[in-house]
Amino acid sequence: YTEYEVPYTRIIEHKHFEYGTQPRTVITREYPASWSRGDEPYYAMNNEKNNSLYAKYKALADEEGHVIFGGRLGMYKYFDMDDTIAVALDCVKKELD
Ligand SMILES: Cc1cc2nc3c(=O)[nH]c(=O)nc-3n(C[C@H](O)[C@H](O)[C@H](O)COP(=O)(O)OP(=O)(O)OC[C@H]3O[C@@H](n4cnc5c(N)ncnc54)[C@H](O)[C@@H]3O)c2cc1C
Repeated sequence: YTEYEVPYTRIIEHKHFEYGTQPRTVITREYPASWSRGDEPYYAMNNEKNNSLYAKYKALADEEGHVIFGGRLGMYKYFDMDDTIAVALDCVKKELD
């Protein structure tokens, strides 16, 4: 919902995730909010400072021979769910090839 007059950005009707057929339902409305210190930091901020910090973690991670760091957290990138699955499949392919 991108209209100015509508205060929420999305409605989720949970039963559709599991193909529920129950007569009653539960919905969640998502409201945008500005981040402030103490809130959950949901998104990677790919600025110069954070990217150079990530490069240091990556160098350490690369030394771990038996651990694969992946996904949003491990790669410090914004991913949607389909991107997450795609990079996981690519990673497995590389490992098994
Ligand atoms: C508000 C919001 C809305 C979104 N909406 C959509 C959408 O509509 N469509 C879409 O496709 N994608 C959406 N996404 C993105 C999607 O949720 C992510 O792309 C996906 O969850 C990333 O998967 P991931 O496995 O990389 O990371 P995550 O799902 O974040 O998993 C990382 C896991 O690592 C765990 N962890 C963290 N630190 C440590 C540690 N030190 N030790 C051990 N475990 C740790 C965390 O608890 C978490 O379980 C949304 C994300 C957010 C935040």
